[in-house]
Amino acid sequence: MVRDYVKKHVLILGAGFAGLELAARLSDSLADAVSVTLLDKNDSFHFGFSKLDVLLGRRTKHDVLMRYGDISKEGVEFRQESVTTIDPENRRVTTDKDSYEADVLVVALGAEYDLAATPGFEEGGFEYYSLAGAERLREALGEFDSGTIMIGVLGHPFKCPPAPFEGAFLLHDRFVQRGIRDSVKIRMTFPMAAPVSVTKEVSQMFVRALDERGIEYAPQQRVARLDVGERKAELASGESVPYDLFIGIPVHRVPEVVASSGLAVDGWVAVDHANLATRFPDVYALGDVAGLPTAKAGVFAEAAARVVAQDIAARLGGGEPPPPYEGAGNCYVEFGGGLVGKVEANFLGGPQPTARLIEPSSELAVEKKAFEATRKERWFAS
Ligand SMILES: Cc1cc2nc3c(=O)[nH]c(=O)nc-3n(C[C@H](O)[C@H](O)[C@H](O)COP(=O)(O)OP(=O)(O)OC[C@H]3O[C@@H](n4cnc5c(N)ncnc54)[C@H](O)[C@@H]3O)c2cc1C
Repeated sequence: MVRDYVKKHVLILGAGFAGLELAARLSDSLADAVSVTLLDKNDSFHFGFSKLDVLLGRRTKHDVLMRYGDISKEGVEFRQESVTTIDPENRRVTTDKDSYEADVLVVALGAEYDLAATPGFEEGGFEYYSLAGAERLREALGEFDSGTIMIGVLGHPFKCPPAPFEGAFLLHDRFVQRGIRDSVKIRMTFPMAAPVSVTKEVSQMFVRALDERGIEYAPQQRVARLDVGERKAELASGESVPYDLFIGIPVHRVPEVVASSGLAVDGWVAVDHANLATRFPDVYALGDVAGLPTAKAGVFAEAAARVVAQDIAARLGGGEPPPPYEGAGNCYVEFGGGLVGKVEANFLGGPQPTARLIEPSSELAVEKKAFEATRKERWFAS
C-alpha cells in the first residue's frame, strides 16, 4: 500500500471489539499524528451477545450486522482482507490482497474455534458461539419437543464466562413459553470447579439460578468426545451420558496466522499486563488473542484498547505512559424473563481479582441496549 510518511502508520489486525475501539480512540485523539489501517476478513461486525438474540429469534442475522463500510472515522481506513502472515520482528504483514509495513502493529484477531478438538462435535453437535451456529441451532430447537438437551463447555478459556449459563437460562425460558418444559431435561457440564472462578458469590448465584430452573449441573466434568450414532457424550472421567441434542461451547484457540507468527506462547499471545505490549518492539496484542489472566470478553478488549491508544500516544509524543491496564469491565448476563444482571469485574487492579453481580432487573436490560448503541455510535460515526 502507498504510505503517508509524515504520519506514523498504525496497522490494526482485526476489527472486533478491540480493533474498533482502538481505531476510534486513535482517530479521536491522534488523527494528526497517525494514519490507521484496520484490516478484517469480514465485511461486518456483530456483538457476541447478539448471537443469543439470533438463537432465540428475537433478531435476524441481518439486524445484528454492522457494516465496516459505514465506518467514518478521520484517519482510519478499513480494508476487507484476510491476514495471511505476520512478521512481528519487522512489523510486516501480508494479506490475500496486499502487503503492509507498520510503525506500530496491533494484533487484535480474537479467538477462533477448534471444533475438531472434540471428536464427533462437528458432525453431531450444535453451538451458538458463531452466527451461523446460532441460526442452525435455532432451527433445531424449533423442532425439539421432548428429550434431553446437554450443554457442554468443552474447554477453557472460552469467550464470555456467563454465556453458557445465559444459554441455559434462555433455553429454559423458551421451553416454558412453549409449554413443554416438563418434557425437556436440560443438563450442563462445566470443566472448572466454579462458573466464575474469581468469585464464590457470583458463582453461587449462577448455580442457584440453574437449580431454580431445574437445570442439572455437573462441574469439573468435560465432554471429551461425542458418540454421534449412540447419542452419548463421553466425559474425560470415562462416564458416558446420553443426550438427544448436544450443544457445545467449542474449544478456543488463536487464529492459525497468529500461531504461525511466533507471537503465541502457551497458546495465547504473551503481553506485558500493564500496557499490552508484546516482546517485539512496537507490537501490541489485545482482546481475546492475548494471554492475560482476565476473562475473554469484549468489555475487557475495549478497556485494553483504551490503554494501548494512550500508550501509543505517550510513545509518539514522549509523554508519561498511562496507568497500568486493570482488566476491569462490566458484563451483562441474561437470566430470561427480560431480566438482565451485571457482573462487575476487576482482574488486575488490586491484590486479588474481584467480581460482584448486580441483581437481574429490567432496568439493566435497558442499560444493555444503550451499551450497544453507544459503541455503534463511537466506532462507526465521525
Ligand atoms: C455468545 C456470546 C456472548 C457474548 N457476550 C458478551 C457480552 O455480553 N459482553 C462482552 O463483553 N463480551 C461478550 N462476548 C465475548 C466477545 O464477543 C469477545 O470477547 C470479543 O468480541 C473479543 O474481542 P476481540 O476484538 O478480541 O475479538 P473479535 O471481536 O472476535 O474480533 C477479531 C476479529 O479478527 C478478525 N480476524 C480473525 N482472523 C483474521 C484474519 N486471518 N484476517 C483478517 N481478520 C481476521 C475476525 O473476523 C474478527 O472480526 C460474547 C461472546 C459470545 C460468543
